[in-house]
Amino acid sequence: MSSNSLVELDRAHLIHPVASWRGHEKSGVRILTSAKGATVTDASGQTLIDGFAGLWCVNAGYGHESVVEAATRQLRDLPYATGYFGLASEPPIRLASRLAEHAPGDLDHVYFTLGGSDAVDTTVRFARYYWQARGLPQKDQFISLEQGYHGSTTVGAGLTALPLFHAGFGLPMDWQHKIPSHYAYRNPVGTDPSAIIAASVAQLRAKVVQIGGAERVAAFYAEPIQGSGGVLVPPAGWMAAMRAVCTELDILFVADEVITGFGRTGPLFACSDEGIVPDMLTTAKGLTSGYVPMGAVFLSDRIYQTIADHAGAAAVGHGFTYSAHPVSAAVGLAVLDLYEGGLLDNGRIMGARLQAGLAALADHPLVGDVRGRGMLAAVELVIDKAKKTPLPAAALPATRIFDRAWQNGLVIRAFASGTLGYAPPLCCTADEIDAIVERTRLTLDQTL
Ligand code: PLP
Repeated sequence: MSSNSLVELDRAHLIHPVASWRGHEKSGVRILTSAKGATVTDASGQTLIDGFAGLWCVNAGYGHESVVEAATRQLRDLPYATGYFGLASEPPIRLASRLAEHAPGDLDHVYFTLGGSDAVDTTVRFARYYWQARGLPQKDQFISLEQGYHGSTTVGAGLTALPLFHAGFGLPMDWQHKIPSHYAYRNPVGTDPSAIIAASVAQLRAKVVQIGGAERVAAFYAEPIQGSGGVLVPPAGWMAAMRAVCTELDILFVADEVITGFGRTGPLFACSDEGIVPDMLTTAKGLTSGYVPMGAVFLSDRIYQTIADHAGAAAVGHGFTYSAHPVSAAVGLAVLDLYEGGLLDNGRIMGARLQAGLAALADHPLVGDVRGRGMLAAVELVIDKAKKTPLPAAALPATRIFDRAWQNGLVIRAFASGTLGYAPPLCCTADEIDAIVERTRLTLDQTL
């Protein structure tokens, strides 16, 4: 089918996620046709470096034959097996046990979901179950961060602070609360790491008091690096300080590693960067490197045992038809082999190169801030560096920068705020990392 006809059919029938439906009808879509390594090719034949790994998910890169073979073999042998009725298939058992070996501390129990949003929903349900089991059902309030993103399902979107995910929906919001982000570039307390940490700790404590005390609060959620909020990196020690407050107040600490997991910041889990062990940890994306959908929730032994003891012989009523899907798990195992077989090491080396390359863009007149860790980064654009004035969205929409970068052979995320996001596959070569930086500079020069 010609790409023009596909664009017409798309316009008429396919609803796109997080898109302007009317804008999309007008502009149409770019259709991707193939991908290999860190590059994607579109219907016009242009090959681009995918500086965003799809949607921060194709961590291993495209076209790994071992992954294709693992999926094909599993599709042939056993394409589906439910985990209900005491049944199981081999791949999710093996994947859960291998992941548990890598997971921080005693996060030894794994619940597989379909993606990140339902992984977050799952932690909300388990947190509620846990406190009921402990005889504390009034602990039913949840706290997360401004600029945080925790998914787009009704519960996950509740924890998500980004206004776009609330506008027009009228979601019930009475059970969840926000505290300010650690966002160093625009933090009212300045950029000093210890001041930022002290402010966040005080804000969390104050929010708990405002809600009615720790006896009302079930859990606090944080991404080790806030992704969709603009790649906001907390100062070293921030996660540990927030974990300590939660431990002291007996509030569950949930680390949302849907973006940061699987080598994005270096190790398999970003919590390891600070040596912290959350009570629950959510992942998705890099778990299968985006080849097929899958998410995973890791439960600490304490949470697992408390829920299991309370339920006793009764079922814990939480599950999906596609929980622990054998094909997704087979892909997860093949992708884990890649991470263990040198990909994490390459990601660490290329991550350092990416951070150094982007840091050198700080002298550009449009660049206000460069930040990131490993293969996760952002360049925040401003029209006035001294005043940190954001780009005027009407005069210089992010889509225009995205289009220019595309013409220059680079896929990046251009956030509406005027921040450019980077999350390239861990398999990138040094030349590809350098090209990401050079093509960004060219795009910014053309934007001046
Ligand atoms: N949590 C975080 C931190 C995310 O970044 C995302 C997606 O980007 C989600 C949850 C939701 O994951 P999914 O889109 O797979 O539902």
